[in-house]
Amino acid sequence: MFDPDRATRVLVPLAGLGLATVFLIVDAELGEPAPAAAREGVPGPPATVESDHGLHLPGPPTVTVRLVGAVGRRARFSCGVDGPYRLVHGARDASDAGRDAVAAGDGLADVTVGATGGRVTLNGVPFGRTLTLVPERGAVVEVGDRRYRGTLVLEAGEDGRVTASNRVDVEEYVAGVLFAEMPERFDTAAHRAQAVAVRTYALARTLEGKTLRDDQGSQVYQGLDRETEEGRRVVLSTRGEVLTWEGRVFPAYFHSTCGGRTSSARDVFGPNAPAPISASVDCGGCDGTRWSRWRRTLRGEDLARLYHGSFGPTLGARVERTDPSGRVLSLEIRDAAGEVIDRPVADRFRNDYNRGRPLDESLLSAWFRLRPGGGGATIAEGRGFGHGVGLCQYGADGLADRGADYREVLATYYPGARLERAYD
Ligand SMILES: [Zn+2]
Repeated sequence: MFDPDRATRVLVPLAGLGLATVFLIVDAELGEPAPAAAREGVPGPPATVESDHGLHLPGPPTVTVRLVGAVGRRARFSCGVDGPYRLVHGARDASDAGRDAVAAGDGLADVTVGATGGRVTLNGVPFGRTLTLVPERGAVVEVGDRRYRGTLVLEAGEDGRVTASNRVDVEEYVAGVLFAEMPERFDTAAHRAQAVAVRTYALARTLEGKTLRDDQGSQVYQGLDRETEEGRRVVLSTRGEVLTWEGRVFPAYFHSTCGGRTSSARDVFGPNAPAPISASVDCGGCDGTRWSRWRRTLRGEDLARLYHGSFGPTLGARVERTDPSGRVLSLEIRDAAGEVIDRPVADRFRNDYNRGRPLDESLLSAWFRLRPGGGGATIAEGRGFGHGVGLCQYGADGLADRGADYREVLATYYPGARLERAYD
């Protein structure tokens, strides 16, 4: 706790942060109170009890989401809060914020966050290495042009950059992901299945002690402004519901469109994936949808550019190996002399080829076949969009249209998984 008797109180003039009604209390060294220092970094996972009946948590856990998409790699960004707040040292969530504060006030607008000497700075005023902005009485934090429930944790890195993370109740997190990841026009049963998958993935990562990202490295999370009344109803109607396998939550991957058959996580992510995401199942729900079939022309000069400098002119590409679902594992790239110049795995090739291209020119999945086109081009005919593991979103909507409820949707894409309530 902050000990006012042992610290030198410094009331920074209001103009110091350029804020209204702020007072700042710091100790003379601008050091961090000892208990808060012990909380540095990401707090450990919540206590869990696993029994024969599965997973039981005392309540919705807090998840930590690194705001990579919102902040990117910028050295400085703005934050604020639209009501009462406190600033506390260490990484805190709302339930763990205590009463200690190094500063407090009512309303912060466009405060510039930076870092210097391993400390977070707000409008140039240095604090400790880790600082949490705790909104109070219904206020919400702002980062750039996005608003978030929960607290905002700022941490200075060694490289002079500062990272921003949102610590938020998992139910509120799910509400901020749902319509960032699935179209609002989809059926309610598809939305419910998606909410369970998002919650399951978030809990699996959190119980491993991991931090989520707000971009496609985890699940796209855009905070309060992505919530809608309908989305909140969907989340509430599935509150606490997660999928488990052998009593444990697992990363319940999902993707846009499988193209007819999902892929096995063991082929995509490695041999240790749990059974419900390792099945390759017939979808039947995404036929005829936007990305179920696609065709792209890979121009010879674009392929050549990929290998420019390392190899001679590129002649073309052909599929070398596929997995049992038909998705490409590796390709063979030959130059004009017919020599094999590279055997890239499909994901690397797709990432390299797609960089900087719009969707309608990109290879949308690893499920494609190649044939020579005219003028040195290669034609790719493909199916689906995304890695193909777990729930197929367009398929879920298709099944829901035919009357499937969310439990049936989940049972289709995560066969063998159990749907259970992890907390009330
Ligand atoms: Zn599908």
